Amino acid sequence: MNFDLPTDVQELVAVARQFREQRLAPLEQEFLLNGNVPWALRPQLQEEARALGLWAIDVPEEHGGLGMGQLAVCAVHEELNRHPMMFETGGAPEPVLYHCSPEQWEPYFASVVSGDRRSCYAFTEPGTGSDLGAIETTAVRDGDEWVINGQKLFIGLAERVEFLILFASTSPEKGSRGVSIFLIDSGTPGYEVVRTIPTMGDAWEPTEIKLNDCRIPAGQILGDVDCGFAVADEQLSHGRLKIASYQLGIAQRCLDEAVAWAQQRSTWGQPIASRQGIQFMLADSAVELDAARLLVYQTAWHTDEGRDVRTEAFKAKLFATEMAQRVTDRCLQVFGGRGYAKDNPVQSYFRQVRLWRIGHGTAEIHRWMIARDLLGPTANDPPRA
Ligand SMILES: Cc1cc2nc3c(=O)[nH]c(=O)nc-3n(C[C@H](O)[C@H](O)[C@H](O)COP(=O)(O)OP(=O)(O)OC[C@H]3O[C@@H](n4cnc5c(N)ncnc54)[C@H](O)[C@@H]3O)c2cc1C
Repeated sequence: MNFDLPTDVQELVAVARQFREQRLAPLEQEFLLNGNVPWALRPQLQEEARALGLWAIDVPEEHGGLGMGQLAVCAVHEELNRHPMMFETGGAPEPVLYHCSPEQWEPYFASVVSGDRRSCYAFTEPGTGSDLGAIETTAVRDGDEWVINGQKLFIGLAERVEFLILFASTSPEKGSRGVSIFLIDSGTPGYEVVRTIPTMGDAWEPTEIKLNDCRIPAGQILGDVDCGFAVADEQLSHGRLKIASYQLGIAQRCLDEAVAWAQQRSTWGQPIASRQGIQFMLADSAVELDAARLLVYQTAWHTDEGRDVRTEAFKAKLFATEMAQRVTDRCLQVFGGRGYAKDNPVQSYFRQVRLWRIGHGTAEIHRWMIARDLLGPTANDPPRA
């Protein structure tokens, strides 16, 4: 077995490292002290990253991407997350958009690859997040249109994107098997971003959305009617894997910072690095980080091999996000009071990683899915596509 990243992936990671060191690093203190950088800077940074080749990494070459797969995506995002800004490379359509029809391809898939448009997922509602079958937003067919009514909560960056990928119930009596996916352009009458929800994380801008008799053409359903669950079940693994890869860069950066501080800081005439209590925190963090990295890259590799990684992706995200929570906590502890200061990236990471045990599926739901794979069907099982 060869655990080295392929040469082309290593080369892309080197580009990402150069971009992080030269373009992101100078923005770090502004980001930490203000909780963000001016929003207009992000598209500009994405364009700069694009000029270096960091764009549409896993999009097949025939669709205008690099065609490099999930191993490359994970390796690049591990590298970029050594900066606390959680900078995303652009040009990668949400995986469900590979289900676009020929008519939808240009406005909803190709336009994301070209960088002209961006999207976000709108799934969660006031009454449900984990339980897809409890969605109350409805889409009712009326002639050549769908009429959508409902409310969505915690929808990331809805004010910043050009279209929504919205989950709505088309057959409420069928529960999760009666959900469909719709593509809704920003500015469509009846679709309104009501407010931005302040959160404990830096740079997050989840929003509340209302849909009030929002009419869209019949052709803006993605995939078949009532097939939203099947499409999402298959495609959300990529997102989980990418989130897992963020945790590697986060934990590595925090560990690097904590190691350096432990060697620099002395108490009672000795560096704290010589204290076993500190050493154990660093050692446990290093071991857990290595284990998470193996799990994430193995899952990425299996994805690129075309295997079904749904359970593996649950395992990778579960382990990596809980690892990152423990590592950021320990590293903050190594810093003492300086770990709590706003100018220290560790405190920002500590708050931000908390999201990933909730967003894109909670840790409890991940455990449920993993257990179901071990046990087979049991009482209370959610359906699987
Ligand atoms: C910053 C931020 C950004 C977000 N961005 C988006 C976005 O862009 N798009 C989007 O659609 N959503 C987004 N979300 C919402 C997120 O995906 C949901 O919060 C998440 O899926 C959990 O849903 P919930 O909050 O309704 O919790 P619930 O489903 O109500 O769960 C509450 C608690 O109960 C536990 N639980 C529920 N059911 C079970 C069970 N069967 N067994 C054991 N435990 C259970 C859960 O694990 C959790 O601990 C975002 C959230 C945040 C905070």
